[in-house]
Amino acid sequence: MSGEPQSDCLFCKIVAGEIPATVVRQNERTIAFRDISPQAPTHILVIPKAHYPNAAALAAAEPALAAELLVEAGEVAADEKIDQAGYRLIFNTGAGAGQTVFHAHVHVLGGTPLREGLV
Ligand code: C5P
Repeated sequence: MSGEPQSDCLFCKIVAGEIPATVVRQNERTIAFRDISPQAPTHILVIPKAHYPNAAALAAAEPALAAELLVEAGEVAADEKIDQAGYRLIFNTGAGAGQTVFHAHVHVLGGTPLREGLV
């Protein structure tokens, strides 16, 4: 897996500016934008600009970039002022886990007490 943009990938199109998104942070290698269908008062997605189908593939190919995603997620939480109260990071991996966009991303959720889920 090379990380090359995929023509049929929604998030590659957001990276390319071909689909609009409310971007809250970005750097050379990552971009963070508000989820179009927020599940919490703060719901932001942090993605690598390079295309990998999920977080595991990203971590296997580019571990430093996977780590950068976590750093950026922490920065997003601080920017949104949800870091003190607490927030949740979710990597849906595979359709059976609810992944619908097959470009690695981490959900940053917070801004309200989060109900206990499966974990
Ligand atoms: O983890 P999963 O693949 O289900 O998450 C994809 C997320 O991408 C969804 O929460 C969806 O609302 C979001 N999305 C978005 N902007 C789009 C299309 C999908 O924020 N244009």
